[in-house]
Amino acid sequence: MLIKLPLQRFLIFLTITLIGALVLNHFSNSMIRHVPAMAPILFPTLTIFLMVFHTMIAVFMVMKYSCDHRRLYLMPIAFAFASSALLMFGTLKSYPDWFLCGGLTNITNYNDALIFFSFRNILMGVLFISAVILYAFKTHEMHTKKNHFVILSIIIIFCAMAMWLAWSYSSNSPLFNVIFINNSTFKYSDVWKNIISWSLIGIWFLTLLIIVLVTHLRNIFWYSGAFFCSCYIFTLFVLMTGQDSAGYSWYQARLFETISTLFLIFVLFCDVFTLYRQSNTKYLNSYQNSIRDPLTRLYNRSYFYDSFTALQPTIANGHPVSVIVSDLDHFKRINDKYGHLQGDKVIQFVSKVLQDSVRQNDIAARIGGEEFALLLVNTPPEVAQSVAERIRLAISEHNAETSNNQLPESITISMGVFTATDLSVPIEECVRRADEAMYRAKEAGRNRVVVW
Ligand code: GH3
Ligand code: MG
Ligand code: MG
Repeated sequence: MLIKLPLQRFLIFLTITLIGALVLNHFSNSMIRHVPAMAPILFPTLTIFLMVFHTMIAVFMVMKYSCDHRRLYLMPIAFAFASSALLMFGTLKSYPDWFLCGGLTNITNYNDALIFFSFRNILMGVLFISAVILYAFKTHEMHTKKNHFVILSIIIIFCAMAMWLAWSYSSNSPLFNVIFINNSTFKYSDVWKNIISWSLIGIWFLTLLIIVLVTHLRNIFWYSGAFFCSCYIFTLFVLMTGQDSAGYSWYQARLFETISTLFLIFVLFCDVFTLYRQSNTKYLNSYQNSIRDPLTRLYNRSYFYDSFTALQPTIANGHPVSVIVSDLDHFKRINDKYGHLQGDKVIQFVSKVLQDSVRQNDIAARIGGEEFALLLVNTPPEVAQSVAERIRLAISEHNAETSNNQLPESITISMGVFTATDLSVPIEECVRRADEAMYRAKEAGRNRVVVW
């Protein structure tokens, strides 16, 4: 599986992670050292920030899941961040008078803070792994309401249990007891140093490995997930470099965690933006397909009529709108002689000439097989006639050579012009009159323009 993993993607991830971690480390380190006086209040403040960020991420994941229920894998992540935010209430409780902005160190329960931190790490690691497993089954036939209910129930029970255990191990409950930090000497216990810290690093390494192997870091979302795991590994290492909780590392670890979470939020915003851009492009494409003819890319019949309707206020304001209906002469012969494919090329060539002969706000449409209609805005009959003449000449002057073999031989077109100068003539009647003029052009010998 590792061999199948695109190496380039993995190398990019490693580079980004390394640079990101170094920058974050430098930034958090220098910041902590520049604000030593703030340090005691910094931890609870950062915890509040982190709580808000984690809640935001959880809400974001739930919203994304509600848009597409096949993304069940987002729910363990949502619960991981939501539970993490809840557990941070416990951390804040360890700093009972943080809001008084001073004298914290004496009464701070560092041990509780570290217990809540450890349970947050375990909870997030396990739920991230569950998310990756569910991601692997994204397209599987498992997305029934019942299955979702069962999986979500298991996740909720797991989160509740983890939170209950964290609470029970903390000094808030007499049920269980564990010492990670001695609250009077601020020294880390051997249990923390030798077992817990390494186990947490192990959990994050495992999570990172599973993310990389299963998702192949296919998109920016999993990139940021893997980066997030790496940041927690770094956070733990930063924490382990300190000898006690009174040192800089304690604060730096939290700052590091906060900044990396902020980075994750930034990536999620980029993800939303990418999704928005993709869906907008898809929408624009399908809109264009709905108003254009696939062979020629000219507007279709219904768009032509819609545009004409939309021009009624212009006509009412005294600006004439001209309609030119055209039909290729003896086109059946082209099809019969050279085949339909060549016939299509002729239609495309004529369409191009028509499109290039009108202004940007005029409408060139294909309203039938080899029938076209032009809508010329603010154009009186004389001008419309000269435009039609110009087009007719341009088409008839082309031959196989000048058309780059688009035309197998020279062809001609018959055109009818009608100009609407007020609203007394309904739209359908305007088009019918231009059509009638075109038929008169046919009757008069074709290859000509007739004004109604
Ligand atoms: P006229 O001068 O009287 O218009 O003669 P005509 O042969 O052009 O007659 P008409 O306009 O009735 O013929 C239209 C022909 O156009 C019939 C049909 O086979 C052909 N046609 C319609 N749509 C397409 C198309 O999408 N591709 C091709 N190759 N031919 C088409
Ligand atoms: Mg024809
Ligand atoms: Mg025809």
